[in-house]
Amino acid sequence: MKIWIDGQVRDPEDARIPVTDHGLLYGDGVFEGLRVYAGRVWKLDRHLERLAGSARSLGIEIPGGLVRVRSVVLETVEEFLASQSDEPPSDAYARLILTRGEGPLGIDPFSCKEPRLICIVAPLELFPSDTLARGLALITSSYRRANPDVLDPGVKSLNYLTSVLAKREARLRGADDAILLNERGRVAEASAANLFAVADGCVATPPVHEGALDGVTRETVLELARDQGLHCEIRTLTRSELLCADEIFLTGTGARLVPVRSIDSVDVPQPIPGEVTRKLDEGFRALVSRDA
Ligand code: PMP
Repeated sequence: MKIWIDGQVRDPEDARIPVTDHGLLYGDGVFEGLRVYAGRVWKLDRHLERLAGSARSLGIEIPGGLVRVRSVVLETVEEFLASQSDEPPSDAYARLILTRGEGPLGIDPFSCKEPRLICIVAPLELFPSDTLARGLALITSSYRRANPDVLDPGVKSLNYLTSVLAKREARLRGADDAILLNERGRVAEASAANLFAVADGCVATPPVHEGALDGVTRETVLELARDQGLHCEIRTLTRSELLCADEIFLTGTGARLVPVRSIDSVDVPQPIPGEVTRKLDEGFRALVSRDA
């Protein structure tokens, strides 16, 4: 693992933040998760754009702007890859963090003088291959995605407690992950991934206004599905529609496309992976290896 902090790339044991950073005290900050394929950062500019949007909505200035963040990511990735022995260059995961910075114990964001930028590049940690092969067991969480006027789900802030608690609930109930409904009971997404349902050849995913993150993988999968001639809909989905779907899969930067085998112990009818999921997954893999 390599970490860029305070102007240079360091090993984890040398990367430290003060305990009075408001990212730690109040979750006051934003982040992005990116992926490196064969040594190249996938959709870097799209992730930077989303980071800028998150930071803007919390009123956090990006030190040096996106041009600097871009070079920080590339520098950290380069140092990480140089520290690895594999040839050709390996895949990796990159995490960008921007906190409000160090300040007094009170919550006042204006008391923090300088936002802190951190970039972590680490080996990729994926679901175990047997989990991917059998598909994920999901539960419907009792936690709800907050309304945008409570905690905007479109902002990747350091406040991920709803997702953490939903994941905990899933694990305690013997499942792999959780579906979060929004306050109106509509499907939003999984704890840290977008959700797709396939029914009668139509691929559907909930809109951002129902509490889904505007996922980079979601966007790519929608483009791919259209290219494959599939009918796609960004529309409201209910839990009962998921229970009637032919196939369900999750998407995210780290895991890409992951088939779902059951929801609240009700099995998805298709063998895992379903035909549409498999073709989209193949298309996605081809795309990242071509563009990498
Ligand atoms: N929803 C949430 C809540 C997430 O944290 C993530 C991961 N960033 C996603 C969806 C998937 O988004 P992406 O494809 O951009 O990784």
